[in-house]
Amino acid sequence: MSPAPVDVASLSLSALTAFLVELGEKPFRAKQVYRWLHQRGAVRFDEMTDLSKALRAQLEARAVIRAVEKDLEQRSVDGTIKYRFKTHDGKLIESVYMPSPERKTLCVSTQVGCAMGCRFCATATLGLVRHLAPSEIVAQVHAVNREVRANEGLETLRPLTNLVFMGMGEPLHNFENVKAALELLQSEDGPNFSSRHITVSTVGLVPMIERFATETDVKLAISLNASWDETRDVIMPVNRKWKIADLMEAVKKFPVKQGRRVTFEYVLMSGVNDTDDDARRLAALLQGVPAKVNLIQYNENPGLGFSTTLDNRAERFKQILEAADVVALIRANRGRDIAAACGQLANVDKRAAAGAA
Ligand code: SF4
Repeated sequence: MSPAPVDVASLSLSALTAFLVELGEKPFRAKQVYRWLHQRGAVRFDEMTDLSKALRAQLEARAVIRAVEKDLEQRSVDGTIKYRFKTHDGKLIESVYMPSPERKTLCVSTQVGCAMGCRFCATATLGLVRHLAPSEIVAQVHAVNREVRANEGLETLRPLTNLVFMGMGEPLHNFENVKAALELLQSEDGPNFSSRHITVSTVGLVPMIERFATETDVKLAISLNASWDETRDVIMPVNRKWKIADLMEAVKKFPVKQGRRVTFEYVLMSGVNDTDDDARRLAALLQGVPAKVNLIQYNENPGLGFSTTLDNRAERFKQILEAADVVALIRANRGRDIAAACGQLANVDKRAAAGAA
């Protein structure tokens, strides 16, 4: 039986070098292949025109590029575009492109579905189908770079400026693959994103926050969404294992670089977590932490039973935080009309997402 093809776009440059040497090539060829994969986002070996035909044929025979294929796109009135991509095995994942005058941000998925079970989140209803490979995480970035180049008539290879790991899935539940994807995305021979321009969001897998801190250098966001355990235990089951106090202890140990802050995402849900007392408890939690709170008015998902906090309540919540010297922003709700907003990524056919289609 022939060995399984090598998922070549998941390999680090050194692993790719070892693979090409095994194929009888000189080590320097690896950089050429790597640049095709991660600077130009090649999806086929026959695009790699400066490689010999013999090498391309060998790669074809021994390796595979796990690109993602655009399955659907939906455009919001605010310029946000939600892409639904199909993986090599027919799973569906979503990525959200959010352009603004200052930056072009992509929100990427790290898993098909999610195991965390947050009660307000549409993705949770899928359960965890599988982890995404590093190549599949990075492929979303390459695919959207191609889209943006074509749609906006740009020549630059990498029009995207910022990445947020806040799509489908819990990134730290797929830490090894997320870490490998970050290395590819930050490499000089790849897309070369700066660590300042990448944010990874977690619900708070406490032991993994420590690894994240020591093994990566990108920014951390905590999806908090409650001011005390009483509420968080109910809306985010992960809190039954690691309480808010455990989470805050891990965050306080997180080495925050000069000028950076840890972002706390706080989705405001009417009557659940948006009272004045919630705001005061949240402010108390964050004392002494270099924090920034992003307040997000909940995007309603039919059938989940939560409703959004109205503007005046959100404003009052923000004022209480600010009065306690906590930096807080009410985040613009991008892509709400196309269900591309926070917590809405799963409006896909569930059977198809699970690969049954
Ligand atoms: S909010 Fe994030 S971690 Fe929670 S279920 Fe949804 S995708 Fe998973």
